[in-house]
Amino acid sequence: MIEERSSGSSTEEVLAELQRRCAFVMVSHVKPDGDTLGAGLALGIALKRLGKRVAYFQEDPVPRNLRFLPDAHLAARRLPVDLPSDTLWVFCDMSSASRAGESLPTPARENTLNIDHHLGNEHFGAYNYVLDNECSTGTVVMHLLRGLGVEIDEQIATCILTTIMTDTGGFMHSNTTPSVLEISADLMRRGADKERITEEIFANKRLATVKLLGRIIDTMRLAHDARYAYAYVDDAMLAECGADGEDTEDTVNVLRSIEGVEVAALFKAFDGEVRVSLRSSGRVSVQAAAARLGGGGHFRASGLTHRGTLDEAISAVDAALVAEGL
Ligand code: AMP
Ligand code: MN
Ligand code: MN
Repeated sequence: MIEERSSGSSTEEVLAELQRRCAFVMVSHVKPDGDTLGAGLALGIALKRLGKRVAYFQEDPVPRNLRFLPDAHLAARRLPVDLPSDTLWVFCDMSSASRAGESLPTPARENTLNIDHHLGNEHFGAYNYVLDNECSTGTVVMHLLRGLGVEIDEQIATCILTTIMTDTGGFMHSNTTPSVLEISADLMRRGADKERITEEIFANKRLATVKLLGRIIDTMRLAHDARYAYAYVDDAMLAECGADGEDTEDTVNVLRSIEGVEVAALFKAFDGEVRVSLRSSGRVSVQAAAARLGGGGHFRASGLTHRGTLDEAISAVDAALVAEGL
């Protein structure tokens, strides 16, 4: 079993709060991925089984490839107006509350629970259940599901396996420990639909996605003795390929997979800001580099948003990576 190490609230404390409250809002981060959504949906389903009221807040639309998740259609910007004043707001998979976006009504701190696995989580909640040795926020949620005594059915199992497959890159990243595989096997036995997850998230790419990949690779540059690969994508390239931001999801991993490349960056210049995705093969901490520029994430996968030009973002990221030993 995975070592249980919360750097904030204990499992018992969080369980007591989940049992005591009657209403919940599960909050996922902007540009949601399978971890932030899968973790919140799984815990939400479990809480509903206990007779609780659950709503889901998501600032952005749910990406096409995650709409298969049970209850995904419930995640929206609009919240019920009659939520009780002691509703617990549960933030999943974010190191700071600002990752929830700008349109989230700010809940009172005493009504916030932060469930996460990021390095350098800011402990912004009244309750902070942060296990940074877990592969996904979904496996952090598993500790709570066991304590709640809710049976892990097909729906919950599919949500949790989605969090694992998303954050391990389909069991390929180094966070795929033996216990991650054991938990995944158990989830499959309980009905998790691994085929569907594979098809939706990894295997079934839109033509526009593949065309856009080609365009992005055309912009690629190698630097620092070809240990650093970076590329960009902008609104015009999306339009040319009939693509949108969702079609760029996996591209940075393709850049990182080039032989000899230790760090890869994809600069996404959309709507007047530059979102940067960083990946490392394990020597340089891209989390530390992103943190220098107001972003965050994990040692090998991180991100940040730069409000300025593409050229500025490229220079700033280069300097931050060099400062971290690239
Ligand atoms: P992405 O490249 O968008 O897949 O993100 C990789 C990792 O970096 C994820 O763990 C994100 O939560 C984190 N991350 C991405 N963007 C930001 C940001 N602007 N601020 C903090 N963390 C981020
Ligand atoms: Mn995430
Ligand atoms: Mn995650």
